[in-house]
Amino acid sequence: MALNLIMLGPPGAGKGTQAERLARTRGIPKISTGDILREAVHAGTEIGQRAKAIMDRGELVSDEVMIGIVQERLDRADARRGFVLDGFPRTVAQAVALDGIMTGRDPLLVVDVEVSEAELVRRLSTRLICDDCGANGASGDTECGRCKGQLVQRADDNEGVVRERLKVYHRRSEPLVAYYRVRPTFRSINGAQPADRVFDDLAAVVDAAVATAAKPGAWR
Ligand code: AMP
Repeated sequence: MALNLIMLGPPGAGKGTQAERLARTRGIPKISTGDILREAVHAGTEIGQRAKAIMDRGELVSDEVMIGIVQERLDRADARRGFVLDGFPRTVAQAVALDGIMTGRDPLLVVDVEVSEAELVRRLSTRLICDDCGANGASGDTECGRCKGQLVQRADDNEGVVRERLKVYHRRSEPLVAYYRVRPTFRSINGAQPADRVFDDLAAVVDAAVATAAKPGAWR
């Protein structure tokens, strides 16, 4: 069975870090819509140029553009064997479109990473990413552990934009929890723990869900 995983949770919950590690250990691609957009901004493509101002304000890029990006990415051969989606869906309209894209494929496993608001603001205003490759920086470092690029604050991680992104999360993305919670494939984990513990919980949840799915009649 293909592991088709989506990670829900507010900005700063650690979705990107956890998604990356899980994807690496399972040999499937991590598909981060934020990374795809930041690459487009860096490369100066038309989508990148239009997305930049929206991202800098902490708002959401249109459903139409995002659904197009994800549809194209999930159609590639590597994603047919499974994927970890990070940062998508972010609206109920995106979730509905994703259900359409997934027709005929193995079911989605949905993991919600829960973290309190105070902890999120603290994390977001102190985190650094690599200016060259986009990797997350380790706290205290000034250069990237992966490519030696310079670590910088993300343009949308200053406190004003962080507050806006959290507001947008509550208004537009939190309804996704209700959308998915009713499914047998929904799980939530405590994202306020140290990263290694969060990863252990994520891996355990994924393994248990995959074992359940393998039973005849499960998840259908
Ligand atoms: P992230 O790295 O996931 O925090 O995404 C950074 C920014 O990219 C967000 O604040 C949005 O402006 C934009 N973005 C990423 N994914 C989506 C999405 N699924 N829908 C709309 N906007 C998105």
